[in-house]
Amino acid sequence: SEEIERHEYDVVVIGAGGAGLRAAIEARAQGKRTAIISKSLFGKAHTVMAEGGCAASMGNVNPNDNWMVHYRDTMRGGKFLNNWRMAELHAKEAPDRVWELETYGALFDRTADGKISQRNFGGHTYPRLAHVGDRTGLEMIRTLQQKVVSLQQEDYAETGDYEANIRVFHETTITELFKDGDRIAGCFGYYRSTGGLVRFDAPAIVLATGGVGKSYQVTSNSWEYTGDGHALALRAGATLINMEFLQFHPTGMVWPPSVKGILVTESVRGDGGVLRNSEGKRFMFEYVPDVFKDQYATTEEEGDRWYTDADNNRRPPELLPRDEVARAINSEVKAGRGSPHGGVFLDIASRLSPEEIQKRLPSMYHQFKELADVDITKEPMEVGPTCHYVMGGVEVEPDSAMSKVPGLFAAGEVAGGMHGSNRLGGNSLSDLLVFGRRAGAGASEYVDGLAGVRPAVRIDDVTSAQERALLPFSNAVEGGENPFVVQLELQKTMNDLVGIIRKADEMEQALKAVQDIATRAKSVAVEGGRAFNPGWHLALDLRNMLLVSLCVAKAALERQESRGGHTRDDYPAMDADWRHLLLVLSANGEDDVHLVRQEQVPMRPELLDLFEMDELKKYYTGEELGGHRAGEA
Ligand code: FAD
Repeated sequence: SEEIERHEYDVVVIGAGGAGLRAAIEARAQGKRTAIISKSLFGKAHTVMAEGGCAASMGNVNPNDNWMVHYRDTMRGGKFLNNWRMAELHAKEAPDRVWELETYGALFDRTADGKISQRNFGGHTYPRLAHVGDRTGLEMIRTLQQKVVSLQQEDYAETGDYEANIRVFHETTITELFKDGDRIAGCFGYYRSTGGLVRFDAPAIVLATGGVGKSYQVTSNSWEYTGDGHALALRAGATLINMEFLQFHPTGMVWPPSVKGILVTESVRGDGGVLRNSEGKRFMFEYVPDVFKDQYATTEEEGDRWYTDADNNRRPPELLPRDEVARAINSEVKAGRGSPHGGVFLDIASRLSPEEIQKRLPSMYHQFKELADVDITKEPMEVGPTCHYVMGGVEVEPDSAMSKVPGLFAAGEVAGGMHGSNRLGGNSLSDLLVFGRRAGAGASEYVDGLAGVRPAVRIDDVTSAQERALLPFSNAVEGGENPFVVQLELQKTMNDLVGIIRKADEMEQALKAVQDIATRAKSVAVEGGRAFNPGWHLALDLRNMLLVSLCVAKAALERQESRGGHTRDDYPAMDADWRHLLLVLSANGEDDVHLVRQEQVPMRPELLDLFEMDELKKYYTGEELGGHRAGEA
């Protein structure tokens, strides 16, 4: 039988975006032999696509900013469903992680006095996003990669081998995790370029695989985001939380059809862009929800003054958290006030000079010019919601990033909890750095704790992983389904039935459809050889997409309220009785997704004290607040 390539490491990091690279750098720094594995080319990850910036309360532009303000904004953005400990660690550690990036060689845009510049973004009280034009992710990935290379050069100087302590396996897709008893023992995958199979024996694995957006038809996500890490974790016995919460970014391109879903950065609004309907009206003023009424401008004049005098005016409602803006756009289009191609207008042309637009938003300028033949310095853009980010992910212990499975860690978009029901823009890049570092440290500490006694990979498990990976080829003989057709059906089902506005009967229909598609997917067949065979790759990805979609639909059907990235037509209000409940998913084997309700750990009292009682009352039940600051009116 076929020889399977074998490698041994202390820590294997699956994913080479910001979370994976930061985790690997940390594990290597702690003296661990580390592998970085990525399905795409090294450098090609969602992180590289990030535009707007990285949120950290450095207070460079407004000195009133600090971790407590950032913490409050993050909890409000997530409608108080966030894991408060993760939000606390994130708010406290983000500035250090950004400064540290500069020690690796990053160069962010500057303020006039030479500090790292920070820009405004939805839901953030002060200008907070460290950025490099609208190409922040590119600088972040470039820097982290450069750091990996410099560590490899250090190792070469010492050992004569660049890859002695840190090695990158790119275009390598992991399809299975191995366990020894209840512990992680390794993983299995294939090289995309040759189709060769490979196994990694390692006591600690960090999942940093990013999101799940490719299960939706209209998405800003690219082909890699098939929920692999979510599914690998589930099958290994870990749990997922918050899977009902998906972020539909309010502004994706809507036209031409070939580029529908591609992101239009929130920086356009942060830098002054406004949303208008077909009647020319700035409709967002009509959509400020009660919980945010005190924090947003009520007139266009006040909103406009805020850009130059933020201390004495309230922010414009175009900068509400993303879930609010996406729902508002959806309502305007439904009410017949949309743009010709079914979106709304995003206007920066009448707000900034052409020079300013080209300087601040160079990628957006080129994106619209090249893809839609629209000059955004002269005309408005047409935009609409696009599936962008999954708040849900692997349930982890906040400080170490370890999942329920000993030796299995998760960081970045694949981890759940940090963002609650809705993520604020800019809070992902900082999340990657903070929890990437923590996962690398957690994995190292775990390996140290094993004191040399390593879990062993069972040969039977390797054989079944191999059989499973090659199954689509044997199906071909029996004439199975085409994976591309199956994927399209899944994407349409999720888009139409578990999309931005949800109803019980539609989600029940979706659950059934996803289960039917999953049955059919078992017999997807591919032809041709194993080298660079996209049909084969997709056939294997589908298994993950289906499992994750089942989780999303199941959790969405269960949660009978609307909150953040989960909007129910049949339960339109936010309900305090649901705030303290997490929906926890586990899987007994392939398709058997199990859901339980779990109480959230209550917020530490001194963190609760950072909020006014009047605000807490909008989110918490009276019973929960009963004992807190007793006697306060
Ligand atoms: P990613 O960067 O997505 O990397 C995932 C890695 O896992 C990749 O290397 C991939 O190849 C690998 N992988 C996946 N599956 C497998 C497998 N089975 N085997 C091996 N490898 C695998 N956030 C912000 O904070 N600010 C912004 O301005 C911003 N702008 C954005 C703009 C766009 C267009 C998009 C799409 C997102 C944006 N986000 C932004 C969100 C943010 O970029 C992502 O949430 C974040 O980059 C995710 O990082 P990650 O490290 O978790 O994963």
